Amino acid sequence: MDSREQRAAQIADRFRIVESNGQFFVPSQNLADKKYAVRIGKNSSFCDCPDFELRQEPCKHVMAVKLTIQRELNFDEQKRLQRQLKLQDRLSERRIRKNGRRTMRHR
Ligand SMILES: [Zn+2]
Repeated sequence: MDSREQRAAQIADRFRIVESNGQFFVPSQNLADKKYAVRIGKNSSFCDCPDFELRQEPCKHVMAVKLTIQRELNFDEQKRLQRQLKLQDRLSERRIRKNGRRTMRHR
């Protein structure tokens, strides 16, 4: 993990990233009250910070937004999986009662 990724993770951990009209507003780590506007596109992303303007490559703000989106997706996915597992548990309990023993199958 390089330091830009670490800083992106710090931003995603510490700050609330606000979305509005398809833009994400990421608070600056160095300047109070400063927010950078990030747009995430399918093929390219944009940020209006000096780092992005200079390098034209994903900066820590773009990475922080992507991290936040990923975490939210993961959260939903986890809830979905948990529901699914509970359902499977219930189904296999029923099967155990029926068969009297649990049969394990390995793929
Ligand atoms: Zn930026």
